[in-house]
Amino acid sequence: MPSTTPRTVFVTGGSKGIGLVTAQALATEGHRVAVTYNSSPPPEGLFGVKCDVTSTDSVDEAFTAVEEHYGPVEIVVSNAGITKDTLLPRMEEDDFLDVLNTNLVAGYRVSKRASRNMIKQKFGRFIFIGSASGMSGVPGQTNYTASKAGVIGLARSIAREFASSKRAITANVVAPGFTETDMAAQVNEKHLEQMKEIIPLQRFAQPEEIASAVVWLASDGAGYVNGAVIPVDGGIGMGH
Ligand code: NDP
Repeated sequence: MPSTTPRTVFVTGGSKGIGLVTAQALATEGHRVAVTYNSSPPPEGLFGVKCDVTSTDSVDEAFTAVEEHYGPVEIVVSNAGITKDTLLPRMEEDDFLDVLNTNLVAGYRVSKRASRNMIKQKFGRFIFIGSASGMSGVPGQTNYTASKAGVIGLARSIAREFASSKRAITANVVAPGFTETDMAAQVNEKHLEQMKEIIPLQRFAQPEEIASAVVWLASDGAGYVNGAVIPVDGGIGMGH
């Protein structure tokens, strides 16, 4: 039996990595889960919709497909993300803008689209996947960390804008530390070893450990959590 009210959940970037494992964990809890896929194939066993989060039309079409299949979206997990790392003097403006567009502006697109029904239903949960790096900064990631810092402002403004005693709508951020996915596999070995040394738990996260925080934020028990940034980072961000 599910331990929480089953909801319709829309997870962006659910074709692999943190998004896929999170979608699977939410489905195990009894939620009706739809995931977006873009350049990867749709995942097996979940309702998949093709969506490029950098396109407002594509986001709109994906929501419409999910609404037709499951009904109004009640929980949105804005997870899709990319990196295009390089030091600032070498960073092309397009690389900066692409990362902002995919990691931050997409959060605006999906939350705006989801908000219509949430307001009508007087219920909604916005869950954004941020990053521990968005609070600390990382050399070579001016674009990525700016996007992840921006996600916190986006979530907190939504948290204030929608909050009311008449509406159970919340917005929160899960801020993972380094997590073993394809994204992390792009980082060179030497840097990985250096990073491990400064993480108090001295290991990287598994996607399941990020998914657990999202599952909790989607649960009935998290209804009073609003505007929070929940670190799942082995302790690297303590104090931020
Ligand atoms: P992956 O590279 O494994 O997965 C990225 C996902 O984002 C894929 O499903 C991909 O879809 C999707 N995506 C990328 N661009 C688009 C787009 N334009 N439209 C739609 N979907 C898109 O990364 P992770 O699982 O590691 O990352 C997931 C989230 O977690 C990201 O927001 C990332 O910034 C964040 N994060 C990751 C950390 C890590 O160490 N791994 C640490 C902190 C935060 P497809 O393949 O189908 O194109």
